[in-house]
Amino acid sequence: MSLPSAPPLSTTPTLLTPGPVPLHPEVQAALALDMIHHRTPEFDAILARVLRQLSRVFETQQPVMALSSTGSGGMEALLVNTLSPGDLVLSVDSGKFGERWAEMAKNFGARVETLKVDWGHAVKVGEVAGFLKQNPETKAVLCQACETSTGTLHPIRELGELIHHTEALFLVDGITAVGALPLPMDQWHIDGLVGGSQKAFMLPTGMSFVSLSKKAWQAQKRARMPRFYFDLQKELAANQKGETYFSSNVTLIRALDISLRWILDQCGLQEHLLSIERRAVFTRRYAHEMGLQIFTQAPSNSLTAIRVPEGIDGQALRLRLEEKYRVTVMGGQDQLKGKVLRIGHMGYLPWHNLQKFFDALPQAISELSPQWRSPRDLDSLRLEMQGFTHHA
Ligand SMILES: *Cc1c(COP(=O)(O)O)cnc(C)c1O
Repeated sequence: MSLPSAPPLSTTPTLLTPGPVPLHPEVQAALALDMIHHRTPEFDAILARVLRQLSRVFETQQPVMALSSTGSGGMEALLVNTLSPGDLVLSVDSGKFGERWAEMAKNFGARVETLKVDWGHAVKVGEVAGFLKQNPETKAVLCQACETSTGTLHPIRELGELIHHTEALFLVDGITAVGALPLPMDQWHIDGLVGGSQKAFMLPTGMSFVSLSKKAWQAQKRARMPRFYFDLQKELAANQKGETYFSSNVTLIRALDISLRWILDQCGLQEHLLSIERRAVFTRRYAHEMGLQIFTQAPSNSLTAIRVPEGIDGQALRLRLEEKYRVTVMGGQDQLKGKVLRIGHMGYLPWHNLQKFFDALPQAISELSPQWRSPRDLDSLRLEMQGFTHHA
């Protein structure tokens, strides 16, 4: 019997979504290596190196733990390790992921107050300050660094300054931020931070990375939310013995070793973040030249949500880009369904892949809406893009 084979590469659309993201060729090669056991000196060395390097990306003196779960598992780990049922939690809800985290905290018995923020707006630090002043018993504030459903960046540094002076913990979902934007955990007083493999870490889906501050480890001793798989104290104890609490995700950890080397050594963290910023800045400029609007008031560099022009069905546009032009971007969810395209700037993204999208977009729009014209000539921007180096 023969196994079904993968479609030929030429038919795979270019992936430009905010997770999953395209993989570096060396990461792909690492994923195809022979399996090894996780109790081997060879794997021990990789695990030790990866855990050390993760702390450099998180910019923390604290240990970072690598969990076999999608990002949402890491979000759960932060909650159940720091909180108890009945604890008052303020949850910033500015989109799909904020909604999810509040829901999760409720399920584990927290008393959740949601701070609703209009989609496409950043949370106002003053509102969080007001809440904490009136509710000094608040145990944690939950916030996305980047709310991926709208492409919005929240003022994490300012929130950290504020929350640091209170009893509350500051838990941050950095799944489309840590490794993609400046988010130094220690310097910005973040107490719990989670990253995800298929977003900024440029890997397939399946791992989350979490770290707790000293203040959060203190809270861990008192936290009584039920936990078993995501017991970070046990995970840390295993890591200190050179192991993971459960079977190690050998395949993804080996691949992570490659992507961390790429981020930290090949590029250097600052340069890596800058390259993502350049893609974001260029995308916003291009959209602007095309007369299109960016959805959010506070755009994040990890992805751009572009408003679909009036009268065009965004879902049809997304589909056309994929089927005819072989470029996959994301549409919007819920209230943004059919109204935005979301383009990811994380992952292994040579400029010619972005160029494919920028060439296709005006064409696909005019096919759906023949009277549509770009208000400006796009040739000079296209030329500029051709001058960009391979991955810059
Ligand atoms: C993708 C994402 C998640 C959820 O990650 P899963 O890996 O799908 O569990 C959570 N938060 C944000 C901000 C994300 O972008």
